[in-house]
Amino acid sequence: YEIPLCDWSSDVCSSDLGCKEAPSSALPELKVSGPTMGTHYAVKVVGDYPGGEPQLQHEVEQILQRIDHQLSTYKPDSELSRFNQHQATTPVEISQDLADVLIEGLRVGKMTGGAMDITVGPLVNLWGFGPDKRPTKIPSEQQIAAARLRTGLDKLHVEIGSEKATVRKDIPDLYVDLSTLGEGYAADHLARLMEQEGISRYLVSVGGALVSRGMNGDGQPWRVAIQKPTDRENAVQAIVDINGHGISTSGSYRNYYELDGKRISHVIDPQTGQPITHKLVSVTVIAPTALEADGWDTGLMVLGPEKAQQVVREQGLAVYMIVKEGEGFKTWMSPQFRTFLVGEKN
Ligand code: FAD
Repeated sequence: YEIPLCDWSSDVCSSDLGCKEAPSSALPELKVSGPTMGTHYAVKVVGDYPGGEPQLQHEVEQILQRIDHQLSTYKPDSELSRFNQHQATTPVEISQDLADVLIEGLRVGKMTGGAMDITVGPLVNLWGFGPDKRPTKIPSEQQIAAARLRTGLDKLHVEIGSEKATVRKDIPDLYVDLSTLGEGYAADHLARLMEQEGISRYLVSVGGALVSRGMNGDGQPWRVAIQKPTDRENAVQAIVDINGHGISTSGSYRNYYELDGKRISHVIDPQTGQPITHKLVSVTVIAPTALEADGWDTGLMVLGPEKAQQVVREQGLAVYMIVKEGEGFKTWMSPQFRTFLVGEKN
């Protein structure tokens, strides 16, 4: 679960952030939304779309369905699931889409020192956050060790040839899980659709990943709210204007369950094979693409507040973090993130 990012609207408007109620739209906005990939998508377009709202919805859902059939570990017949079921080390021909996500996953994974690891699926499933059922007791050391043997970024190889892309694994039962990247990739593709159609004012979101460009119908920048890590929906922590960038938030406090008195988070540390337990509860990343932002947010979430800040400084990333402190929370942002900040609530 990602802490939902939402576009700025009067229902999340807070005077503490120094904003005004949204004025009535000067230009109409087309809006379509619906379920996808175990989460939701939403698209807003200022002005007209060729073919109107039904065509917009149709084209958006076609793209989302295509990506779902490529990247899902929840669909046994997806392209990724077929690779996971391929119990051999011989190369498998894959689509350019799947190759793109794997390459970005490996790149960001290496830059986080393996904290974001797209081969962590066996551990994700063991802890009950993939397509498998939740465990009824804490997995044993042996189960965790066995699952860890099936992971490792260095065991996955993607090759792009002049005519085709292929992927292969060093061990037959390596299992790739792109859940952490799929939303960002899908948001980028929806943004690409808008560009192809000549739309220059839009906001698209898939789960917690979002891309916007231009002004909204009121002639104001689209404003994206980062939510407070509380159970209250629409409690705003900060507002940003990401014009032309991708943004993604990873949160550890909502997608969890309790087992034997322990809180089990959906973010797994590949080093230990255990769900994270540190006090970093929310990481938001703004990057040139939502795919890149979606990879970094999980990697930084795994690293924890101190190591994550070090990596953010070294890499010059635009990042906002919320860390639990006593009964409350404290926040931290990089200088690169500050350039996008519109308002922040203490
Ligand atoms: P993020 O913080 O972005 O990522 C966390 C997720 O990544 C974890 O839930 C886990 O899956 C994985 N992960 C954990 N630790 C690591 C790590 N160290 N490195 C890398 N990855 C890690 N859900 C359903 O319930 N039903 C569906 O049918 C369904 N279909 C999907 C289809 C696609 C194509 C995709 C991409 C996802 C689908 N999901 C589905 C999953 C769901 O919607 C979320 O995408 C998923 O739970 C990731 O959550 P997040 O983006 O909220 O969290």
